[in-house]
Amino acid sequence: MTPSSTASTHPEVLRAQAVVDLSAIAANIDRLRAATSAEVMIVVKADAYGHGMARVAAQARRLGIAWLGVALPEEALQLRAEGDTGNILAWLATPDQSTIDECVEQRVDLGISTPWALGQIADAARRHGVIARIHLKIDTGLSRGGASASDWSELVELSARAQADSTIIVDGVWSHLVSGEDPDAAVTGEQARAFVDALQVVHRAGLNPTWRHLANSGAVLSGAASENGFEHTMVRCGIAAYGITPGRVLGDSIQLGLRPAMTLQARLAQVKVIPAGQGVSYGHHWIAERETEVGLVPIGYADGLPRTAVAPSVWISGRRCPVLGRIAMDQCVVDVTGVDAQPGDEVIVFGPGDLGEPTAEEWAEWAGTIGYEIVTRIGPRVPRRYVGEVGQV
Ligand SMILES: *Cc1c(COP(=O)(O)O)cnc(C)c1O
Repeated sequence: MTPSSTASTHPEVLRAQAVVDLSAIAANIDRLRAATSAEVMIVVKADAYGHGMARVAAQARRLGIAWLGVALPEEALQLRAEGDTGNILAWLATPDQSTIDECVEQRVDLGISTPWALGQIADAARRHGVIARIHLKIDTGLSRGGASASDWSELVELSARAQADSTIIVDGVWSHLVSGEDPDAAVTGEQARAFVDALQVVHRAGLNPTWRHLANSGAVLSGAASENGFEHTMVRCGIAAYGITPGRVLGDSIQLGLRPAMTLQARLAQVKVIPAGQGVSYGHHWIAERETEVGLVPIGYADGLPRTAVAPSVWISGRRCPVLGRIAMDQCVVDVTGVDAQPGDEVIVFGPGDLGEPTAEEWAEWAGTIGYEIVTRIGPRVPRRYVGEVGQV
């Protein structure tokens, strides 16, 4: 029997795996496209929020997504190395001339907030005899990256001069929101107005960039991006593409019509009975009140489970099984009393919620964080398996 036929008849029992449903990502992209008339950029930074950058990017391209967004230039170069030839914007360059050179050479658009970065890009463009493509960033209130309003005119003027020299093209102007997911946040309207002011400066300098963008998933799904006079032609969506709510204020994924793409699974490594009075895991933070059947789940905080989660549970044989005591680096212990659990049984740590299993959004509540952090932190020790690719049944 060949190894591949073995694998297909007896699916390999994996310690743990993250199954990524690419058809869910496709459905979520449809949902986002229906919510806006602007071009939808799909954000695949941080290994596509833990879902795997190469496969998610390929799926997005097959669906006709013209723009992919990443934070780091290195991430953009990785996409190029994997064969992606479409438009990519990378917005978090640090002063490393060789990486910037490579991005310019590889036709990666770069987000620019400062004259020094503009200078580095112009140098790179001259050296390589190409025209570098940039998106100028205005800080409209997040106080993170972006040019302050007081520095904006200078940056725009320098860019207009470099464009006149044919060293760069200002392909876009952009900003990032403080509370895009909150439809009642007054700051969103203020940011939209600051963005319009910034655009006027750009137009007065004789520039007319195709792409104007400031909305994220939250602003698209909350309606903020259509109600606040956003003069945008593109939106940058990450989390919603992966089927997770941008914020509890908007409701959960089901209420938003999103489908969580990642299911985190493991297999029970051991099952045994402990007596009443027995403590479980480091520090004995949980003590059995009665005889308890416990299951060992071979996944822990090294794999991305949040150790700080309060009263989390997992799904085994159609039941929610509480995690007992501390989550350790590689494993955790769950209560399987009355479940008839066997070693090798499937454990769903989180999934889309169809069966009643916990979701990443619930894990986020248990850990006092956001769904973004739960999926993004699922570590490299957990293999990803893909289902639902376009054209695959
Ligand atoms: C991560 C990121 C996004 C995507 O935000 P979501 O809330 O995941 O849609 C958009 N723009 C910038 C600048 C980002 O850093």
